[in-house]
Amino acid sequence: MHFRLRSLLSPTLLALVAATIALPQPPLPVEATSTIDADTEETLPAESGIPERKVAFDLYPPEPPDGIIGIQAATDWPTWYPTSTSPVTLPCIGDGKNGARVQFWYAYVAGKTNRIAEARPWLTDQIERANGMTVASAAKTNGFRALRVVTDANCRPSISAVQLPSSALPTLDATVSAMKAAGIKDSKDRVHVVLMDANGFTDGACGRGAMFLDENPDPTKNLHNLNGSWARIDLACWYAGGILHEIFHTFGAVQLGAPNADNMHCKDEGDLLCYGANTRMVCTGAVAEERLDCNNDDYFHTNPPAGSYLRNHWNTADSKYLSSDTAPRLAGADRYATAAAVSRKFAPGVATAYVATGASYADALSGAALAGRTGGPVLLTQATYIPTAVKTELTRLKPKKIVVLGGTSSVSNAVLNELRTYATANTSDEVTRLAGTDRYGTSAAVAASYPAGVRVAYVAYGGDFPDALAGAAVAGRDDAPVLLTRHDGLPAPVRQQLQRLRPQQIVLLGGTQAVSEAVEAELRTLATGTGADRVKRIAGKDRYAVAAALAATYPAGSPTAYVASGATFPDALAGAALAGAEGAPVLLTQPRSVPAATSEALARLHPGAVTVLGGKNTVTDAVAGHVRLIVQ
Ligand SMILES: [Zn+2]
Repeated sequence: MHFRLRSLLSPTLLALVAATIALPQPPLPVEATSTIDADTEETLPAESGIPERKVAFDLYPPEPPDGIIGIQAATDWPTWYPTSTSPVTLPCIGDGKNGARVQFWYAYVAGKTNRIAEARPWLTDQIERANGMTVASAAKTNGFRALRVVTDANCRPSISAVQLPSSALPTLDATVSAMKAAGIKDSKDRVHVVLMDANGFTDGACGRGAMFLDENPDPTKNLHNLNGSWARIDLACWYAGGILHEIFHTFGAVQLGAPNADNMHCKDEGDLLCYGANTRMVCTGAVAEERLDCNNDDYFHTNPPAGSYLRNHWNTADSKYLSSDTAPRLAGADRYATAAAVSRKFAPGVATAYVATGASYADALSGAALAGRTGGPVLLTQATYIPTAVKTELTRLKPKKIVVLGGTSSVSNAVLNELRTYATANTSDEVTRLAGTDRYGTSAAVAASYPAGVRVAYVAYGGDFPDALAGAAVAGRDDAPVLLTRHDGLPAPVRQQLQRLRPQQIVLLGGTQAVSEAVEAELRTLATGTGADRVKRIAGKDRYAVAAALAATYPAGSPTAYVASGATFPDALAGAALAGAEGAPVLLTQPRSVPAATSEALARLHPGAVTVLGGKNTVTDAVAGHVRLIVQ
């Protein structure tokens, strides 16, 4: 955290700093010097088998900006203090109480007013923002972590009120004693966080967290995972960063031996746990102050590299008070194996399996819609040989027929002939090819499999894949073909197919930069419906928004939804056949973070479950964990 040091600053400098922080920048919290000495160090003494815990000498209140000074009463929490990280729902785990949890308590002093009802909305939001910071911090190393918290029936943090005597105020040790007297016990599965409705530490600090000095890397042996702990955050520090700072102290950050440690804090700013006389700016950017472990080398890394300090010492990412549960995946080692994994959701003996090149998207795009209609998978192949994972899957699947999508340059005749050994119909047409002279012709050849008079046909730009990716699943659901077009003109074979199909409605996927208004006008002459929406264009500011717009055509509460990378095409296309067959939506994501459009669409759909298509190389655990929280 970006703190200034009272003791080291001259009055002139203090005035300068005060002037600086009064300007538009967020006001900065102030911490004490980080030197732990015998006079100021606090401990929670050893007791009943629990070793001594050190208490971080800690946070001073953030300074209010000009205009707030004098208005901000000592009895108010810092509603003016900015947090840029969005709240993220806490994980719903079991009954909300079992196992290792962080438990929040609202404490007020005897003789004062119990303001729990007034404080709860603010504290709930700050705790969920602290969880957002945890999720975003894990995403820095492509992993997922969320706070395990004692929650209510709606998975919001449970915050119970407790009245404490004024003797609880001066130190954390005094607070813990008072909490125990009130019946709240030390537990091996609880980090108790006391949100004190007062500013009571005698040294003026506004947060304290207790941790062990234990660098043992073994999560089953480290004292932080064998015990609970205590933290207290006073009124003036009731903001997300202050709350998470103390929580991570209780998880064991920062150990004294960490490379950039500075007495239970760290030196590499910006960082939620760094401050002191020896800091240096290493991680810049507006959100760095709201993230754990700048460079992930001192106390938090979801997958520390071999030989690194965190691989061989205590890593708070291994805290049992964090959840790493992600959404399930359908995935293999590469695109071919992932398509095979998706195919395994189909029972053996399907009528038709489709096989397309894994090297480009065009053939599979139209084929995925047809596969979704006929209830079969799309498998991907190399042009000149069938990958082993695909052979294994075809052996299991025993399709009656196999349809190859695309020309011989995409899937060679040698591959087509080898596929005959996997088709079980034993007819002359057990393996056939659907192809045209180019991608447009192939999409027309696939569309020729549909009967005339379809209710709807989808038309997508053939020059790139993003807009059409999610369209294949929708088309599969609607028993509708997907045809490809050029930007400024409808290719002849596609026009001919649309004339034959006589769709009542044509849905155009993508904006005018992808498919021109001229093409839209031509489609208007080919749709047979009479309404103004006989040609409907679905567009968005990017591929994620287009997929979200398509997902809006699905009712809320479907059994499942799929999430695939929007940065590449193979996983989404293989998944589209399954999603189309199940009537489930496919949403797209960036590999390392969930786009807002996708997050909002998932929240609205509220499916019973979400499945990620593809391995960690295409969709990181950061995303697989986050989407799980969105739909839980
Ligand atoms: Zn601290």
